[in-house]
Amino acid sequence: MFSQVTAEPVARLIDEFNRLPGIGPKTAQRLTYFLLRAPSEQAHALAEALIRMKERTVFCSICFNITEMDPCAVCQDPERDRRTICVVEEPLDVLALERTRTYKGLYHVLHGAISPVDGIGPEELRIRELLSRVDREKIGEVLLATNPNLEGGATAMYVHSLLRPLGVRVTRLAYGLPVGGDLEYADEVTLTRALEGRREM
Ligand SMILES: [Zn+2]
Repeated sequence: MFSQVTAEPVARLIDEFNRLPGIGPKTAQRLTYFLLRAPSEQAHALAEALIRMKERTVFCSICFNITEMDPCAVCQDPERDRRTICVVEEPLDVLALERTRTYKGLYHVLHGAISPVDGIGPEELRIRELLSRVDREKIGEVLLATNPNLEGGATAMYVHSLLRPLGVRVTRLAYGLPVGGDLEYADEVTLTRALEGRREM
C-alpha cells in the first residue's frame, strides 16, 4: 500500500512491523523511520537478534518453556523443588515469576488459555503433557498461575477438574493481582504476595 510513494524496502519493513501484535500502521511507520535514521549497527543488531532468537531457541520437551538447551535450565536444576509444578500461560510468565526469586519449583507452560471466542480449545494447549507429568513424576502440588482474567480463570477450572482424580494438591495464585491483567506485567512485590498467599482450589 506504500509502494507508490515509498521505496519498496521501506514499505516492506512497515508491512512486517504491522503484522506484529499491538503494532498498528502508525507505530509500524514510526519504527521503520526510526531504523532508517539509526546507525547501521543498530539495524544489524536487531536483525541478528531476530535470527538468533529463531535459530537458537527450542521448546523444552518437559515444561515447554523456551530454551537454548533441552531440557531447559530450570528442569535440569538439581536445586529445584521437583514436587511442585507452576502452570502458566506463556513463557514470559515464567520470567515474571523467576524475577520474584520466591518460587523454587518447576514450571509447565500451556502456551495459551482456553478461549472459545478465539477458537482455542483445551487440545491447543499443553494440558495432556501436564497430566502425564503429574502422573509420572510424583508431583505433590500443582500451582495454577494462569492470568487473572476470564480465559485464565476458565483454564484453571478446567485443568483443576482434570487434576482432581490424580489426587494431587492444586493451588491457585492469590488475588491481589490486577484482575483482567496479565501476569507478565505484574510487579515483583504483587507477584511475591500472590505466590505466598496461594490457596487450595
Ligand atoms: Zn523445562
